[in-house]
Amino acid sequence: LSGKLSGVFDGLAKRGALSEADVAEAMREVRLAMLDADVALPVVKDFVNKVRERAVGHEVLDSISPGQAVAKIVNDALIDALGGAGAVPLNLNAVPPVPILMVGLQGSGKTTTSGKIALRLATRERRKVLLASLDTQRPAAQLQLQQLAERAGVPSLPIVPGQTPVEIARRAMDTGRREGFDVVILDTAGRLSIDEALMNEVREIRAETSPAETLLVVDAMTGQDAVNTARAFNEAVGVTGVVMTRMDGDARGGAALSMRAVTGAPIKLTGSGEKLDALEEFHPERVAGRILGLGDIAGLVEKAADTLDHEESEKIALKMMQGKFDLDDYAAQIRQIAKMGSLSGILDMLPGMGKVKQALGDKDLDTSVLKRHQAIISSMTRAERKTPAIIKASRKKRIAAGSGSTVQDVNRLLKQFDDMSTMMKRINKLGMKGLMRQGMS
Ligand code: GDP
Ligand code: MG
Repeated sequence: LSGKLSGVFDGLAKRGALSEADVAEAMREVRLAMLDADVALPVVKDFVNKVRERAVGHEVLDSISPGQAVAKIVNDALIDALGGAGAVPLNLNAVPPVPILMVGLQGSGKTTTSGKIALRLATRERRKVLLASLDTQRPAAQLQLQQLAERAGVPSLPIVPGQTPVEIARRAMDTGRREGFDVVILDTAGRLSIDEALMNEVREIRAETSPAETLLVVDAMTGQDAVNTARAFNEAVGVTGVVMTRMDGDARGGAALSMRAVTGAPIKLTGSGEKLDALEEFHPERVAGRILGLGDIAGLVEKAADTLDHEESEKIALKMMQGKFDLDDYAAQIRQIAKMGSLSGILDMLPGMGKVKQALGDKDLDTSVLKRHQAIISSMTRAERKTPAIIKASRKKRIAAGSGSTVQDVNRLLKQFDDMSTMMKRINKLGMKGLMRQGMS
């Protein structure tokens, strides 16, 4: 445990026993940490009471300190409350086409998550997936899903104007049966807040399709409201699983605990970005750490291992240390960063990186320009990529024309490259690898 919490636990360690007063003091800090992480107040109270009971009078083994004992009790209880160790997979045990119903408030990420799940089932499990938008609320909603489906390479139900959500649901299931689909994902309309019209609509769709999964999609930034949202949807339609989106943001994930506490349904997946592959299994132990302020080391390491080509990274790191970082390396690096999400997002996941972030200022790579940067770099000659300093006005014009961009774009890229090499040198000095290793042991 880091920060405030570890201070309290260190204090306990010196006293040598788990008295009621010791536990009470530690629980005060746990309570603050949880509220800070946006866990809903009633859920915090309940959790703290349970843990207090468990902790007071707890036998402390000789081999560990009382502080470690309380920390372990808190951490274990939190993991339990989040659903225990291990991820719960989607339930597709039903006669195909298996309907998956996506519900939640507007903007929570239902449509995006529908696309992500479709992509995952289609590629990882080789399922034949049909995407259907039942969102007749917003004019462009059905188009949005259609475009996502195209990006995911998954078919979507043809749009027929004028149909009600229930009619679309029926047509989706018919198409699914007729064309031999394994899974039909039904993306519903949200509302800005819970209302009866929304609940009735979802209820009717549910009655029409009998979904194997009713996934409640919630934004991780949802604070104290999480409880109300979860309760309303659970009472109206019965939630079988929760998807937490925007885990890539600053949110510490307290909503996960609130969701779980109210619905009793497991959190099955988390979203960590706008891109279609930014979908992960939910790992209670990691979110527990995040709620208590531990930093998501394990998640970072897994993510890095997943996407980083280590040999290439090492080569680049070595070059940077030797001051030989060039635009080819930059292109390689932005490919990796594009895969990992934003660089500042990665720094956020590491405890103790606040200072580095400050040193970097708010500079970060906008992932949407990465593609353009790659195009620009591939319009350069080898010499230009090796020695960007030689790129003067006439070369800039040629490169811009060759890559379908403007001279300003080229300038911006060169500036970004400069910032990036500085940034990389600093991180390198601190030793990203060393940090990761420390975190794991
Ligand atoms: P819906 O109204 O529930 O269908 O929400 P959308 O799927 O349209 O998502 C609303 C916005 O949130 C879009 O701009 C998405 O790109 C964005 N979004 C969805 N999931 C995530 C996520 O996990 N992380 C981030 N950063 N953005 C997300
Ligand atoms: Mg939508």
